[in-house]
Amino acid sequence: MEKHVEKYVEEFMDRMVAKNPGEKEFHQAVREVVESLAPYILDNPVLMKMKILERIVEPERIVMFRVPWINDKGEVEINKGYRIQCNSAIGPYKGGIRFHSSVNLSILKFLAFEQTFKNSLTTLPMGGGKGGSDFSPRGKSDNEVMRFCQSFMTELARHIGQDTDVPAGDIGVGARALGYMFGQYKRLRNEFTGTLTGKGAEWGGSPLRPEATGYGTCYFAQEMLATRSTSLDGKIVAVSGSGNVAQFAVQKATQLGARVVTLSDSNGYIYDPDGIDAEKLAYVFELKNIFRGRIREYADKYPNAKYVADQRPWSVKCDIALPCATQNEVSGKEAATLVGNGCICVAEGANMPSTPEAIAVFQKARILYAPGKAANAGGVATSGLEMTQNSMRLKWAPEEVDARLHSIMRDIHAACTKYGTEEDGYINYVKGANIAGFIKVANAMLAHGVV
Ligand code: NDP
Repeated sequence: MEKHVEKYVEEFMDRMVAKNPGEKEFHQAVREVVESLAPYILDNPVLMKMKILERIVEPERIVMFRVPWINDKGEVEINKGYRIQCNSAIGPYKGGIRFHSSVNLSILKFLAFEQTFKNSLTTLPMGGGKGGSDFSPRGKSDNEVMRFCQSFMTELARHIGQDTDVPAGDIGVGARALGYMFGQYKRLRNEFTGTLTGKGAEWGGSPLRPEATGYGTCYFAQEMLATRSTSLDGKIVAVSGSGNVAQFAVQKATQLGARVVTLSDSNGYIYDPDGIDAEKLAYVFELKNIFRGRIREYADKYPNAKYVADQRPWSVKCDIALPCATQNEVSGKEAATLVGNGCICVAEGANMPSTPEAIAVFQKARILYAPGKAANAGGVATSGLEMTQNSMRLKWAPEEVDARLHSIMRDIHAACTKYGTEEDGYINYVKGANIAGFIKVANAMLAHGVV
């Protein structure tokens, strides 16, 4: 990095960290974006003068609230609830809701910030937002999850709406929680609108929304691999996580001819050298989505697979890695192991799963590496398509949604290539995604004046 660019980045980060103390995930996400954008901003004095970057890192609004509820023993429990309305320059706030014990302000601010760029990249008119709670659904009964969701939505309902802010699912928020939240929203507002996306197929959901993040990640990986004249066909793939994104990434990668050999959760990973085929994946769907079991049970069911406790799957030899669990789940050391084992492509299904050290390792080795804001944008893009269908009171065929998803992922890849190709021909997807996502939002903010 040139000296004057480095000076701009460090001074910007010093001010930003001082204003947002202790929010380390948010600092990490902002630094990555500022490092990519600094040369572009310095070349465009109007962006400096209008303080576009300073405004983008300040959420337009943060709502924090108490979520009281009663557990099955009749005891009162209290959780924290949040909605970060980060940026509405190009459309209503849009982004998922996360229920996980680790949720805090820093994590949700990083996610809402990333979402702003991701949503811009999708080519659809959606601003950036994110929300959630430190409530953990793990081990809770259906009734407890329902009572929590109703209490959470009772407050959230007054801050969202189909033209204001449209939440969706994320970690810990799948079909069950979305159903309970939509039911309560509908009851409170006395209206049936598309205010939440990821809805059930029979009550306003888009075909392919559950599949979209995992499928989109694989479509994006195909585009990346095509730049090196290869594809997923015949490749060995390591996937982390075993939730929504991981499950459908396994399904699509397998359909495209790959052999997926790992899945994980926060307790460990399974390695199945024979590959997780359609029949085994059907078992995973049942295990995780109906019985809410743990991934170690896979190794009991399929004895050829082994379970490794307290570790992540990155020491397994693979051609392609798809991290689909959570943030900061690939360390610099693990990235070096992946590269050393011959991994040629990393496409992020999760948000910010690679640490800055891991990204540096991938880029230095010149392997294909795409950040979540580009590679996993298929999920929110299909949420955007759900909003369109809800507004039209129509439902498209799955083939139509799949074709649109595919074409959006191709467009995002083209945008990354346009802004991220370096002098030696290497595509820096981080730079490409950040600049392409930023330009549209920045132009809208310039047009809207100082608001
Ligand atoms: P799910 O809740 O369905 O699954 C999450 C998976 O990740 C589970 O296997 C979970 O294991 C694991 N996990 C969660 N936290 C941790 C942790 N701290 N350490 C290790 N493993 C962990 O969530 P999704 O599949 O929806 O989301 C996965 C990732 O994809 C997230 O980063 C999310 O932000 C991102 N994403 C999701 C989209 C979507 O459409 N759902 C869209 C775009 C991005 P355990 O059961 O042990 O917690």
